Amino acid sequence: MEITNPDIPRDARTNGLVDLKAMGPDDLTAFVEAMGQPSYRGQQLFNWIYGKGVDDFGAMSNLPKAFRQELADVAIVSRIEAKQVQQAQDQTIKALYALPSGREIETVLIPAIDARGEARRLTVCVSSQVGCAMGCHFCATGLMGFRENLAAGHIVDQVWAMNELAHERFGQPISNIVYMGMGEPLLNYDNVLKSVAIVTHEKSLDLSPRRITVSTVGLARRIRDLADDGVRFNLAVSLHAPTNETRSSIMPVNTSEKTSLPALKEALQHYAEKTGREITYEYCLFKGVNDSQEDARRLAAITRWAPSKVNIIMYNPVEGLHFERTSEEQLDRFIQALVAEGVTVTVRRSRGDDIDAACGQLAVQDA
Ligand code: SF4
Repeated sequence: MEITNPDIPRDARTNGLVDLKAMGPDDLTAFVEAMGQPSYRGQQLFNWIYGKGVDDFGAMSNLPKAFRQELADVAIVSRIEAKQVQQAQDQTIKALYALPSGREIETVLIPAIDARGEARRLTVCVSSQVGCAMGCHFCATGLMGFRENLAAGHIVDQVWAMNELAHERFGQPISNIVYMGMGEPLLNYDNVLKSVAIVTHEKSLDLSPRRITVSTVGLARRIRDLADDGVRFNLAVSLHAPTNETRSSIMPVNTSEKTSLPALKEALQHYAEKTGREITYEYCLFKGVNDSQEDARRLAAITRWAPSKVNIIMYNPVEGLHFERTSEEQLDRFIQALVAEGVTVTVRRSRGDDIDAACGQLAVQDA
């Protein structure tokens, strides 16, 4: 039987079989309709795959037997496979997963531990691509170049797998998701949005979109698309420099007029107007590059483009890259300069750096 419905995502077709992991909730409905089934079967399939984690059609007991056989003839439900799980001294967990293609990705579970030693928040940092085309000069993933976009279901698999580890090791479910692992999420736009639709679905993890943050290098056109598509998750922009000159010197994406600071400003103002949401600027401090008092004042001016806050990140040195971490004294001065300008600032300290799970350190062997 051949499935010809044009609504079925093109990248779902693998080896003649349709991989249901490439589909969001709406795609599954279109898929079952293309097979001549009523649309509610799409919901049933969704419940099995993303509510119960079942990938064997034979076990989907509320589907008619003949339909289960037809599904087995035309489709598969692929999954990522755990290759290695490591836990850092600060309890951060990093896992290495193989995709069906054989390529590998990394996912991190970051617990926020309170004074009583209990996890207050459990944040999963997911990868959305294998490698990354953006080539930021300070980033281990950027060194790899781009290899592959992840299917929506394989982004969700990372959350599921970490949710199981969260129950096992912390006795509670994950609470937040950040799209800050390998890759530029907005270059895998459709799959990222589908993955959000899945994890926020009431029959799946039922997470509030407020607990999800998608982080981008600042692809202006896609930020406008997010606003126009009415997304309800949080947006973080990896700014890392307050002038075009410095930003272009460390982030090649900024050298294009379409993604340089003026274009970003317009896109973010459009986003803020349409969504009413606050933007988070991620700002990683590099010694002698972007950490002066003047840089802090310029950064403060950028925060006035739209309602926003700044998250300062302490750099985790990557072997082979020449960037250095800013001193604690310089960090304090930088923060004080921002606060004096009325900017809301948080500082993200390094987590899991003894297992290379910290920001900018995710990279796997080339496949
Ligand atoms: S920092 Fe993010 S966007 Fe830049 S190269 Fe690394 S993964 Fe890609």
